[in-house]
Amino acid sequence: FSKKYKPALRFYDETMSASFRYRFDLEQGLRKALIDSELQVYYQPFYAPGSGELVGAEALVRWPDKTGFVSPADFIPVAESTGQIRALGALVLKRACCDTRLLSEQLGKKLVIAVNVSPVQFASNDIIADLQEAINISGIDATQVVLEITEGVFIGQIAGAARLLEEVVAMGVRLSMDDFGQGYSSLSYLRMHPFSFLKIDKLFIQGMVQSPQDYALVQASVAMAQALQLGIVAEGVETREQLEMLESLSVDYAQGFYLARPMAFDEYQKVANIKHV
Ligand code: C2E
Ligand code: CA
Ligand code: CA
Ligand code: CA
Repeated sequence: FSKKYKPALRFYDETMSASFRYRFDLEQGLRKALIDSELQVYYQPFYAPGSGELVGAEALVRWPDKTGFVSPADFIPVAESTGQIRALGALVLKRACCDTRLLSEQLGKKLVIAVNVSPVQFASNDIIADLQEAINISGIDATQVVLEITEGVFIGQIAGAARLLEEVVAMGVRLSMDDFGQGYSSLSYLRMHPFSFLKIDKLFIQGMVQSPQDYALVQASVAMAQALQLGIVAEGVETREQLEMLESLSVDYAQGFYLARPMAFDEYQKVANIKHV
C-alpha cells in the first residue's frame, strides 16, 4: 500500500487516556494486519424466502486475534478516521469479487456479492478505481456486485457522493441502502439517488413478531419498496417465525443467523448447494 494511506508511526506516552490508548492500539494493530495480510473476508448468504434458493452473500471483514476476532464495530471507525479504510475496502472488494466469481463458476449460477462500503470511501474518487480493479481482476460481471451504503454517505459531502453513486451505477454495479429505518433521512435519499435495494435494519426484523409498531414499519417499507420498484432485503432473521412473516410480506431476500452465519469461503462453498426452505 502506498505511504499516503499509512498513519504516521507514533510512540506510547504516559499521558494517553485509556480510550486514546485503545484506539492507538487498534490503529497500530490494523497497520500491521494490513501489511501482513491478516484480514479475512467472511460471507453471510442470503436467500429467497419462498423458494429457499441461495441468491448470494454479504462480505464481512474479519480480523483474527488471539481469542477470536476483533469486532468490526470497533475497528471500522478507527480505520475510517485514519484513512486505513481505503486499503481495507479495496482488499475486501477484490477478495469478495474473486471468491464470488470462482463459486459462481463452480455452481454454474451468477451469485450476487454485497460489499459494505464506508461513507468515508466516497470522500474521494478512489472508490471508482478500486471497484473497477476488483471487477477487472476477478472477471465478475458488474451486475453481480452490490454496494451496501448507509445514509452517512450523504452527510457533509452530498454533491461529491451523489456524482460517485451515479458513476458506480453507470458501471452496472447496484446500490443497496443499508440499515434502513435507523436514520431519519433515508426516505428522501432513496428518492434522490439510484438505489436498487433497500435493506431493512435488523432491529425491526427482530422486533416485528412482538411489536405491532415494528411490524407496521416492515410492512410499510415493503410496500414502499414495491412502489419504487426496489428489491427488499431483511437482515438479522433469527427465528422461523420471523422468516415466515417475511415470506408472507413478500420480502425478496432474507439473511440472518437462522439461515446462515457469516462463514469463511470454504464453508460458503459447501453450503452453496444447500437450499433453505
Ligand atoms: P452491517 O453491514 O449492518 O452488517 C450486519 C451485521 O449483523 C454483521 O456484523 C453480521 O455478522 C451481523 N448479523 C448477521 N445476521 C445476524 C443475526 O441474525 N442477528 C444478529 N444479532 N446479528 C446478525 P459484523 O460482521 O460484526 O459487522 C458489523 C458492522 O461492521 C457491519 O454492519 C458494517 O457496518 C461493518 N462492516 C463489516 N464488514 C465491513 C467491511 O468490509 N467494510 C465496511 N466498510 N464495513 C464493514
Ligand atoms: Ca451491511
Ligand atoms: Ca445492516
Ligand atoms: Ca449496521
